Amino acid sequence: MAALEGLEFGKSDFVLLDEVNIEQFMENLKLRFENAHIYTFIGEGVVSVNPYKQMDIYGKEDINAYRGRELYENPPHLYAVADAAYKAMKRRAKDTCIVVSGESGAGKTEASKYIMQYIAAITNPSQRAEVESVKNVLLKSNCVLEAFGNAKTNRNDNSSRFGKYMDINFNFNGNPTGGHINNYLLEKSRVVQQNGGERNFHSFYQLLRGGSDVMLKSLHLHNDPANYVYTREGATSNNDRSSHNAVLSALNVIGFSEEEIHSIYRILGTVLILGNLQFETDSESVRVVGMGDVSHIAELTSTEPDNVTKSLLYRTVATGDGEVIEKGHSEKEACFGRDAFTKALYERLFGWIVGRINAVIEVKDYNPVLHGKNTVIGVLDIYGFEIFDNNSFEQFCINYCNEKLQQLFIQLILCQEQDEYRREGIKWQHIDYFNNQIIVDLVEQPHKGIISVLDEACLSVGKVTDTVCLESMDAKLGQHPHYTSRKPVSVFITSLCRSHSRLLYFSHSSISLSVYFRYSIEGFLDKNKDPLYQDFKRLMFNSSNPVMKEMWPDGQLSITEVTKRPLTAATLFKNSIVALVEKLGCKEPYYVRCIKPNDMKSPLLFDDARCQHQVAYLGLLENVRVRRAGFAYRQAYTRFLQRYKMTCVYTWPNHLMETDREAVEAIVTQHGFQDDVAYGHTKLFVRTPKSLFTLEQERAVL
Ligand code: ATP
Ligand code: MG
Repeated sequence: MAALEGLEFGKSDFVLLDEVNIEQFMENLKLRFENAHIYTFIGEGVVSVNPYKQMDIYGKEDINAYRGRELYENPPHLYAVADAAYKAMKRRAKDTCIVVSGESGAGKTEASKYIMQYIAAITNPSQRAEVESVKNVLLKSNCVLEAFGNAKTNRNDNSSRFGKYMDINFNFNGNPTGGHINNYLLEKSRVVQQNGGERNFHSFYQLLRGGSDVMLKSLHLHNDPANYVYTREGATSNNDRSSHNAVLSALNVIGFSEEEIHSIYRILGTVLILGNLQFETDSESVRVVGMGDVSHIAELTSTEPDNVTKSLLYRTVATGDGEVIEKGHSEKEACFGRDAFTKALYERLFGWIVGRINAVIEVKDYNPVLHGKNTVIGVLDIYGFEIFDNNSFEQFCINYCNEKLQQLFIQLILCQEQDEYRREGIKWQHIDYFNNQIIVDLVEQPHKGIISVLDEACLSVGKVTDTVCLESMDAKLGQHPHYTSRKPVSVFITSLCRSHSRLLYFSHSSISLSVYFRYSIEGFLDKNKDPLYQDFKRLMFNSSNPVMKEMWPDGQLSITEVTKRPLTAATLFKNSIVALVEKLGCKEPYYVRCIKPNDMKSPLLFDDARCQHQVAYLGLLENVRVRRAGFAYRQAYTRFLQRYKMTCVYTWPNHLMETDREAVEAIVTQHGFQDDVAYGHTKLFVRTPKSLFTLEQERAVL
């Protein structure tokens, strides 16, 4: 219970800094980190620096210390934020959300898990079985999703390669009744290829290292990941075996049937075997090397070997006059098709697992009349800005997503606050911030934005190359103040992440400033089109395994029926992010901003430059400024009066003043916190939570 012991170093809330500037901010952050205070408040949000070591601050006693308490009563902690979100949800029947952000390795997933554990620990004191079971599934789902959606990267040994938003539903008692998980953009390219030193998704190694001999034999697999093209990179890890058992048990707890679990492992086996398949060209046609593998694939997918071979070597196309013909692949096309197939197999498996968990945890038999308002706490753990040496389509999508979230933050925290002060006539010092709407528009605007240009290029007939696509971006966006292009171009550079001056650059030359993102246009079109031959879809739809068939409903269309082009990857992603932002936008937000102290995963090192960069692009200084200039609480005069009139002799039982505002003034003055408030046209604004807390206490003893 270290959190509550010992000296507090530095300021526990950045709002309390003597002056809000980057020097003081960094000094405080560093001082606290070096003294094992990894959390610091900004108002109701918390900044977290990854300690890279086990901290003794997550025990039962710590949970009890935060339960139901006010923010400032305890040192900063994730639990304080989780409790604030929970209280708002329970007391005021508000839907709330906790947005956890930060770059890869900053500690988002760990933070989200602690938040969920906290919520699980403080709810259902009477241990009702059905609530316990919901909590159990919610917690166990993490283990499964991490196995299938996380991988070792050069930045993080357990990096989430998908975005996750989880809603937890509560009944009027404040107990969890269910939930829903949304997943975003799984990095499926990892299935077929990983950067040097990185691994494929954990699930493959866990199966190979941890699966029993009988199981592996039935899947026609060897136990060494080095045997497989897809897993031979970074094949070693100590805990794959124990993780395999944990995942199996989690799948069982969640309620996956034996058949479903087998199907999951059969798909993993199929992917690994497919990855080893090779093709060769003899005289005029292409064939599969080693037909034994094909029969194993057919067995694992419950399909016919002939159909497997056919879908690997041919594609069915409809000619202009409606005739259906089979066209043989070149060797290159066959390899491309195989990889597209394995990526799709894995992606659909992942989506299906999420859907299956959702089916278990969805709120059933809910009747608002009987059960009262159903409220929600959402927890968002999504990839932060990614800046690599070589950025591709995935980084483009991820960074766009972060711009959207930043935009939401600006709207919720900055714009709304300032608008309200203006409306209410509160004296308020305007805070300058960069409104990144212009960047968001540049990416997503219909007919004009980058995604739309990409889509157009993908839809056009004939061969459009990445370079041609970039040229049409130049033509459309060349005049945009945040877009620059230098020809000849094969690479473009974007800077999205500095809070004040963001520039979007398209160029072939690299700019070494850390605020610039450089994307390589190479591969954009293919990744956006994300083509998968219909033959594979049909193959899987015709599987006699019902679980697999269910994953491929689009395989029932015959080639002549497939007229509509599927939405592109970027558009699908954009739609899902727009929906996410809408979902978050109608909830009361709480923020956890995670910072990665160094790139060495060291518990000791605070890399000033790296940390400062993160503080800048997370917009933390602006956040503090707004918070400082602003007011933590506000309430309409009538409501305030109703709640607190009994604490003041001039207002109890009724006041004789002309207006409610005057009556409120009487209460405020009697309690001596007149310097902590401002009077708006219709509302009272209270700067610090302490004042309200005093009133609440007094109300409680009366
Ligand atoms: P990504 O975007 O790659 O998924 P992330 O922000 O989710 O990254 P985590 O996986 O949560 O990062 O954290 C990376 C690692 O840092 C963890 O595996 C763990 O070793 C360490 N870590 C993070 N938070 C804590 C913590 N509170 N206490 C101890 N170690 C932590
Ligand atoms: Mg993560």
